Amino acid sequence: MYLVLLGPPGAGKGTQAALLARNQNIVHISTGDMLREAVKAGTELGQEAQQYMDRGELVPDDVVVGITRERLNAPDAHRGFVLDGFPRTAPQAEQLDGILEELDMQLHLIVNLEVPERELIRRMTGRRVCPNCGKTYHLVFHPPRSLGTCDECGTDLVQRDDDKESTVRQRLEVYRKQTEPLVHYYAESGLLLNLEGTGTVDQVYERLEKFLK
Ligand code: AMP
Repeated sequence: MYLVLLGPPGAGKGTQAALLARNQNIVHISTGDMLREAVKAGTELGQEAQQYMDRGELVPDDVVVGITRERLNAPDAHRGFVLDGFPRTAPQAEQLDGILEELDMQLHLIVNLEVPERELIRRMTGRRVCPNCGKTYHLVFHPPRSLGTCDECGTDLVQRDDDKESTVRQRLEVYRKQTEPLVHYYAESGLLLNLEGTGTVDQVYERLEKFLK
């Protein structure tokens, strides 16, 4: 199964994509995760991407298309994939069509996760991550056992720079301008599923699974 998860930042794409990947035995391809790994590793690509990410802006298309193309070319992607956070602009969507055509793959479904803006802000500004092991928490929905420290490794939790409220608002504006138009692009393909993304993680996944069945 070849899937795309669309939706604003904070809609739960990463969480739902991880569940889908595990349950459907397909690969989870997150451009945000790949870029964060490059930043952490201090590669040239990471250094270029970081300035955009910290400001809540999109990393240039050629950079993101390049890493996604490489990942889709890996043999395990043929088994099935869920794309999380890509495409995010019209040129990315067009280039994705070209890459998939070259690889003789066709998208089966585009899921658009819908969540009201107020809820998105609440979700993102409450998010905390462990800088050591990468585990994520939420101050309200999924707090750590001991305030401010990671359950797994005891490291002090941090807020991602791009989860700070001013950056979150900037990311939402970028989404409205550059990514939301893709909903119309995919609606024309007849493969678009608009899915309510509110409620618990399990509730959203159940909705999605019901549709997949
Ligand atoms: P995410 O974890 O998907 O919210 O992505 C975090 C940040 O990585 C975004 O705010 C962008 O700066 C960058 N990013 C991730 N995916 C893309 C993409 N497809 N195009 C451009 N920038 C991206």
